Amino acid sequence: MIESYDNLAVPGPTMTAISVPFWAAARDDELALQQCDACRRFFFYPREFCPHCWSEHTTWRRASGEGVVKSFSVIHRPGHFAWAVAAPYVIALIELKEGPTMLSQLIGVAIDSVEVGQAVKARCTQVGKHVLPFFEPQLRCADATSGSDAT
Ligand SMILES: [Zn+2]
Repeated sequence: MIESYDNLAVPGPTMTAISVPFWAAARDDELALQQCDACRRFFFYPREFCPHCWSEHTTWRRASGEGVVKSFSVIHRPGHFAWAVAAPYVIALIELKEGPTMLSQLIGVAIDSVEVGQAVKARCTQVGKHVLPFFEPQLRCADATSGSDAT
């Protein structure tokens, strides 16, 4: 685990003409998702058509960035050597509030404290030359007040 990913020289994402708005939003510290104009459902990864109803009419929307951990894995031996200095780290499937599931990295969390169902929020992070939508634990009201209940 490292404090900063700024100087990490890792391979970047494969950007396509379809995914440009997603990466542009990430650079503005926002999570963007496509929404189908016909059935109104959100989907991820970026596509030319809705995977639910096949409509080609879709619109990019700002997403809440909120989600929950659906599953996760602690990475000790990264698939690419450039990530080795960051290991161990947590890769998780995040079920977004809007519906789609996204694979990402959890940051700002102790590895042994990650739980399925844990609330997380997007935190777009500078990783070398790229800005990637990572996720961090979301503070819940119950967390903020725990320990203050003296009864
Ligand atoms: Zn649709």
